[in-house]
Amino acid sequence: MLLKTAILFLLVMAVIGFIGSKLFPGAVTRRIKSGLTGGKPPRCPSCGRYLIGKGGCDCRKKG
Ligand SMILES: [Zn+2]
Repeated sequence: MLLKTAILFLLVMAVIGFIGSKLFPGAVTRRIKSGLTGGKPPRCPSCGRYLIGKGGCDCRKKG
């Protein structure tokens, strides 16, 4: 009976973790992203301007 209780407890913990990740999907990825960039906004390596969005800087688009 004790083993069943332990398995049930693990299942409940797994469900809670699953629901938590469904409720807050951006919480974990946001933390990882802020860790990668060091909390600072990304900047263009060639001209030094702040990058907005995913497309990159204008100086590289125009060549
Ligand atoms: Zn640039």
